[in-house]
Amino acid sequence: MSSTEILQHVFGYQEFRGEQEQIIQHILSDGDALVLMPTGGGKSLCYQIPAILRPGVAIIISPLIALMYDQVVALQQYGIKAAYLNSTLTFEQARTVSNQLRQNELDLLYVSPEKLMTPRFLDFLDQAKIALFAIDEAHCVSQWGHDFRPEYTQLVILHQRFPNIPRIAVTATADAPTQRDIIAHLGLNDAKIFIASFDRPNISYRVVQKQNPKTQLLEFLRAEKHHNDAGIVYCLSRKRVDETAKWLTKQGWQALPYHAGMDKELREQHQMRFLREEGVIIVATIAFGMGIDKPNVRFVAHLDLPKSLEAYYQETGRAGRDGLPANAWMAYGLQDIVMLQRMVDGSDADERHKRIEQHKLKAMLGYCEITTCRRQILLNYFGELLPDSCGNCDTCVEPVSTWDGTEAAQKALSCIYRTKQMFGVQYLIDVLLGKKTDRIMNFQHDKISTFGIGKELSGEQWQSVFRQLIARGLVTVDVEGHGSLRLTENSRPILRGEEQVFLRKDIAKQRRSKTYSRSSQWRSFTGTDKLLWKTLLNKRLELANAQDIPPYAIFHDSTLEDIVLQQPQILKDFAHLSGVGAKKLERYGQIFIDVLDEHITQHGEQEQASEKPIAATLDRVTVISESAETTIDLFKEGSSIQEIATERGFKAGTIYTHLALGIEAGQLQLEQVIPNLKEDELHDIEDQFLSQETMDALKPIFDHFEGLYDYELLRCVRASIVQRIK
Ligand code: ADP
Ligand code: ZN
Repeated sequence: MSSTEILQHVFGYQEFRGEQEQIIQHILSDGDALVLMPTGGGKSLCYQIPAILRPGVAIIISPLIALMYDQVVALQQYGIKAAYLNSTLTFEQARTVSNQLRQNELDLLYVSPEKLMTPRFLDFLDQAKIALFAIDEAHCVSQWGHDFRPEYTQLVILHQRFPNIPRIAVTATADAPTQRDIIAHLGLNDAKIFIASFDRPNISYRVVQKQNPKTQLLEFLRAEKHHNDAGIVYCLSRKRVDETAKWLTKQGWQALPYHAGMDKELREQHQMRFLREEGVIIVATIAFGMGIDKPNVRFVAHLDLPKSLEAYYQETGRAGRDGLPANAWMAYGLQDIVMLQRMVDGSDADERHKRIEQHKLKAMLGYCEITTCRRQILLNYFGELLPDSCGNCDTCVEPVSTWDGTEAAQKALSCIYRTKQMFGVQYLIDVLLGKKTDRIMNFQHDKISTFGIGKELSGEQWQSVFRQLIARGLVTVDVEGHGSLRLTENSRPILRGEEQVFLRKDIAKQRRSKTYSRSSQWRSFTGTDKLLWKTLLNKRLELANAQDIPPYAIFHDSTLEDIVLQQPQILKDFAHLSGVGAKKLERYGQIFIDVLDEHITQHGEQEQASEKPIAATLDRVTVISESAETTIDLFKEGSSIQEIATERGFKAGTIYTHLALGIEAGQLQLEQVIPNLKEDELHDIEDQFLSQETMDALKPIFDHFEGLYDYELLRCVRASIVQRIK
């Protein structure tokens, strides 16, 4: 079999993404590779397919013992022969795996680096036929990141001991120092480096000014309808993790804490619930997340500022691995800056290291304060250029206005100077506002020239001014001076009036009504579609629980979504759904078709108001499934809609859906499918579509004409509009 055939038959995916195919070819022809791809980019296939194709067993080195089981069962669901060896196995279990290995019965074996390094295992490898070595989470070899694992630095032994076996190191951390470390420590000097685009277009980025973070989080969760969604909330401290989890629970959300200070068993139990159940929120420190490959995490929220953009990107990247829309939301404020500066300054790292950390923090702050597209600055940071603004981040959706803050900046800076650079933000604001507090009176700061000169702004606005001055490096926080602010060289030109400062106007309040994310299709399911969606979810959970595996190992949400949209009633059509390989078809195809059948029997014809939103298809290529292709061909050959429906065992509605796709792709004319529609009628319908905010829903149009035109007709007209304006 070729790699494409494996992709289609085993994994049920139509085509490779990005450079997957080239990477696979490279490994197949004995090359070493270093693969840098964002989370969710599809790294695993890059070693899984060669593992199947090359003779012998592929050894996958993974740092995450607790997650190996899930990785292995997910592969077994595809009918791939995989196993793992680590300290959690009983003696019996380990012996079974060893036997399988000796009989050459495995395609993939996951091991921890500790296990790999044991003399016994290395001896064993000497005798075994090895397909390749894959080093997952390869950035663990680098001391720069927070995932450093000393055992990883010993993996260079693979190169020395097995020079002829290809190695592939994969990671989602892309910065240059990490990359250099991986190459150096793993002996990958001859490896070909594959760097994928780091863009995650389905993730919507948003940063809000921190006021009351917990309430803001709740507002976000409600506004984005994240009820029943899985998500991760990151906090800096364990204490905040516990508090937030407790609080969310009290508000009726299923939230579980996770941090290194917890009892190990409880922690793993929480992680397990997050993976096994639907709609669990994990509130965690950065200790959580590496190796979590749950595809349907719908949001990642930061209640505290991460230390670097790398960390931020990796953490937010855990959302939306399945490619469906997901949210990255963060609350950030002055306290965060002070706190992080303190952490950097107070650490016992050497000067060089500290400077790098400072630099990273600065980039992070720059991201928060940016007034243009956030995705552009993010990608730029990773060395990629996004020519146009993305339209899917807060600054794109709600452009930020700026104001000339030169005078305010001057007042703030001179107030720092006049009080001898010895005070923190709150004190300085009190002076600017002319408050006669005891402290101010004691220091006689009511006598200085900056006392009371800032009454035109509120305390909150001054906070924003100071925050932005710090973020821009015009002012630093002196950690030893207990958070007092100091001027930097950069502030001089402003004090002298030689430079202007434009500040961002903080959006006073989170607007509740606005939802940012482009919705997944299942979110807009209504009526019987929604019911079917829920029934499918339940069936999936039931099947998963019975086997003690995570639900997504059976099918991803997007496959279930496709079942609702395409209503495959025979196995042949079911096989065309994305994510349905041969084994899964055999195991689950009929089960889900039966669920669908029963649903149709009980609830009759679909209203069919919820299929591919046109707005979304506008900037996408029209994808015609093979099944639709068949319908279109038959139609072109002269079969009537009724004949095709009978021949293929479909409802007429499904045939129209296929034909609409043909119209959308320009393969069919509207008149061919809907022959009797008059010119002026057509115009009326078109006007009605175009007057809607989106063309996603057919129902408003159907209702507008009081049922005069059926859904089939409306769908085809809509397709012809899309075809024209695309
Ligand atoms: P990561 O790079 O984070 O390891 P994964 O390998 O887990 O990403 O892949 C992310 C998701 O994308 C998985 O659910 C996987 O099944 C899916 N995927 C990978 N390659 C393809 C492809 N060529 N077509 C469709 N889906 C794919
Ligand atoms: Zn943007």
